[in-house]
Amino acid sequence: MPKTVRLCPKCRSVKLHLLTNVSGWLAPKKFECKECGYCGSFFVEVDIDELKKMKEEKEKK
Ligand SMILES: [Zn+2]
Repeated sequence: MPKTVRLCPKCRSVKLHLLTNVSGWLAPKKFECKECGYCGSFFVEVDIDELKKMKEEKEKK
């Protein structure tokens, strides 16, 4: 199984924190980004290798 990580769709941070919902398991999961404060059920999911590549490219610049 490929290892994937969740990224913030706004700032691409991996510091996503899962918000637990009091209303129960029927509600969609929501995430909160510790970096930019984004909050929502949408997030970007990428392969860990893909993330490494992205980081390496960032460091080059
Ligand atoms: Zn963010």
